Amino acid sequence: MRHIVVIGAGQAGSSCVAKLRNGGFDGKITLIGAEPQPPYQRPPLSKAYLMGDMALERLYLRPHSFYEEHGIELLLDTSVDAIDTANNQIAVAGGMMAYDDLVLATGSVPHRLPAAIGGALEGVHVVRGLADVDAMAPQFVKGARVLIVGGGYIGLEAASVAAKLGLEVTLVEMAPRILQRVASPETSAFFRDLHKGHGVDLREGVGLEQLTGEGRVSGAKLSDGTELAVDFVIVGVGVAPGTTLAEAAGIALDNGIAVDAQGRTNVPNIWAAGDCASFPYRDARIRLESVPNAIEQAEVVAENLMGAEKDYVAKPWFWSDQYDVKLQIAGLNTGYDHVVTRGAAPGPVSFWYYAGDKLLAVDAANDPRGYMVGKRLIESGKSPAPEVVADASSDLKALLKA
Ligand code: FAD
Repeated sequence: MRHIVVIGAGQAGSSCVAKLRNGGFDGKITLIGAEPQPPYQRPPLSKAYLMGDMALERLYLRPHSFYEEHGIELLLDTSVDAIDTANNQIAVAGGMMAYDDLVLATGSVPHRLPAAIGGALEGVHVVRGLADVDAMAPQFVKGARVLIVGGGYIGLEAASVAAKLGLEVTLVEMAPRILQRVASPETSAFFRDLHKGHGVDLREGVGLEQLTGEGRVSGAKLSDGTELAVDFVIVGVGVAPGTTLAEAAGIALDNGIAVDAQGRTNVPNIWAAGDCASFPYRDARIRLESVPNAIEQAEVVAENLMGAEKDYVAKPWFWSDQYDVKLQIAGLNTGYDHVVTRGAAPGPVSFWYYAGDKLLAVDAANDPRGYMVGKRLIESGKSPAPEVVADASSDLKALLKA
């Protein structure tokens, strides 16, 4: 019987095995995950779950019984140690397991601070898995002093939860502005104002020099010479694709595990999907760290495992929740040369990224209509005139018919 093994029981791994069964694959399926929990959603870890507003059971992507009911062998708390590509086997749990096809859905690994600057002190946390969040959650008590290192979406979401719960929050971003890597100065300014309005001590262009403490972190020295007393630290300085296994097995990498449009690596019968995989997109090769990408790419891989020969055509979108703002992002802004703002806070506001007269992406804050129209325009290759977008009284939906 054909045996498909999926390594990584996260968003992509879970989507892949579900799609295989729903699509009628009747061979053997094994899903292997290093974490002790069945596959769960990560976005709430820096949002509702961290806030204490979401029960653990609601994090799970599918009930535990789903896997048994669908004849999927789920091996949890189990790390795959190596792939023997010559013999189509993996090293796992002290033995070897044969596969006919192997899917790598190994996700990402958070960057940590070096031990030399205090990164290994107790009370220094990253936000990647349930274990990370469960370890930091008890410290989210009113009045506690938290230092957040990194002003990307995860750092900002953690800052929002901490500020809402009454902690004293300092956030440092080494770059000149928060969200510099992913968003326009306009979007950065919007979130800067939002956080400052909620009492976050937000410092841009300021790095962390050293964390101090005996065993446990108790202080921080910043690059501008400031010294802070802290009770705990959250590090949100990005992730790297989970490529260790693939690299050791000699699978080609290119900013992640390099796959073709259908999800195949350069090694026969080995596929990859989700955060760990880079794939062709228009004239480039990209890697996306998002739930929609993990689901949709993994489902395409599942279909191709069943013979579909289908290309994955990414339609990038993302979201972030901070305070009472829901940010929705459509498209990719890479290469933009100007940004058009529609609306103004505290009402719906959106930032439209153009390269020349081509619309690339939209960041929409509390503006579901802006998001929805922007997404459909981008996906259909339509670019409305910037002056029409900028006029908040113009009928956005009419743009779809133009
Ligand atoms: P993961 O979900 O990371 O799963 C990979 C799994 O593989 C892990 O469980 C890992 O333990 C396992 N693994 C790795 N190596 C091995 C091995 N050798 N053996 C066995 N198992 C292994 N995305 C959004 O779109 N919107 C959001 O708002 C958003 N918020 C986020 C908030 C947080 C705090 C985090 C951490 C992520 C957020 N993301 C968000 C990103 C999103 O969660 C990821 O893009 C998505 O989980 C990727 O799915 P994946 O299956 O590729 O990887």
